[in-house]
Amino acid sequence: MGKALIIGCGGVASVAIAKCCQNSEVFTEIMIASRTLSKCDALKEKLQPTTKTIIHTRQVDADKVPELVAIMEEFKPDVCLNLALPYQDLTIMDACLATKTPYVDTANYEPVDTAKFEYKWQWAYEDRFKEAGITALLGSGFDPGVTGVFSAYALKHHFDEINYIDILDCNGGDHGYPFATNFNPEINIREVSAKGSYWEDGHWVETEPMEIKRVYNFDQVGEKDMYLLHHEEIESLAKNIPGIKRIRFFMTFGQSYLTHLKCLENVGMTSIEPVIYEGHEIVPLQFLKFMLPDPATLGPRTVGKTNIGCIFRGKKDGKEKTYYLYNVCDHQECYKEVGSQAISYTTGVPAMIGAMLIMNGTWNCPGVKNIEEFDPDPFMDALNKWGLPWIEDFNPVEVE
Ligand code: NDP
Repeated sequence: MGKALIIGCGGVASVAIAKCCQNSEVFTEIMIASRTLSKCDALKEKLQPTTKTIIHTRQVDADKVPELVAIMEEFKPDVCLNLALPYQDLTIMDACLATKTPYVDTANYEPVDTAKFEYKWQWAYEDRFKEAGITALLGSGFDPGVTGVFSAYALKHHFDEINYIDILDCNGGDHGYPFATNFNPEINIREVSAKGSYWEDGHWVETEPMEIKRVYNFDQVGEKDMYLLHHEEIESLAKNIPGIKRIRFFMTFGQSYLTHLKCLENVGMTSIEPVIYEGHEIVPLQFLKFMLPDPATLGPRTVGKTNIGCIFRGKKDGKEKTYYLYNVCDHQECYKEVGSQAISYTTGVPAMIGAMLIMNGTWNCPGVKNIEEFDPDPFMDALNKWGLPWIEDFNPVEVE
């Protein structure tokens, strides 16, 4: 069917690439291009004997538009799936524009020197993508990603109007380390040490980091502490779900994680301000990332399940209604299937699905679009087929 260029070869990319290789009727050829060629080659060596998909590899610095353009001109991909870091979103979008290549990512742009993620930089590309006649699909991971698809599905099939959305992201997994992050530590720590916020009555309400705590009893995981965070899909859902009054995002954290994080923060190790150490400029958070376990190595050690989903409250036929859509994913099952833990799995599978729907033309809407702006049904079917089946609850316990 088509060719996909995949940028990045870390935890999420490894799963997405494994899934493309399982789906070789759609992904007939892929090119893995990342900063460290040896990682791309090692993954190719592992996967090529298992798949009909033809795998190519290249070294690329995705901060450099001409390097990306050269690869796109040579390989002529039908879609570019960006699974590098949020810092590379704009350069990859520029290269896609230059070569008229559709674009898919899983995280919105964040400048390296300000830990603030928002869609304004990528939404600013809307007219250029529209004029070029190509689609940019933003946020095709789990959250953002599946949470937006769940919202579109709830609105299409279960509500006339959605007024409240609570997104609950629970990781009940245990990797046995006193402190480690389940995806890129730099991105993860920037996210959780930032101020929290939620959307209410048309504006943002800001909170101190971890100020709002709730306890929730998650299906197949049990009772967990969860904390309100700012999260990027709140911004796009606030724009795209008509009648919305409030959207909150909660993520579970164990006490050990929080105690370590507080200590690291208190001694300055989570700072993104460069410091001079013995004549070298270093960024404390980047050094901390270097010291922490690589999330890609957590797979064999992590046991337990994730439970991520959305609780909706709104109106149907004039009556109040609640509805909870979620997925439960088992870390060890993921490891057995693709050699990664569930956080990479729950992001990598939707990334493959988004790329597939763009590549086969099921989703085609020139411009820069968030995932909830597309028809959710083909994505929901694909989730069931490709390893992330969803569960519905028509009488959920709501978050206070
Ligand atoms: P990793 O750090 O494991 O992987 C990032 C990859 O990008 C690495 O292979 C890295 O290369 C490569 N890379 C970084 N900079 C460049 C560059 N300048 N040029 C080329 N390649 C580069 O991160 P994850 O896999 O955990 O995360 C990938 C993305 O997924 C992130 O944007 C993250 O925010 C997003 N994400 C989204 C989620 C969602 O649900 N929506 C959930 C989790 C993550 P090298 O191997 O040399 O380090």
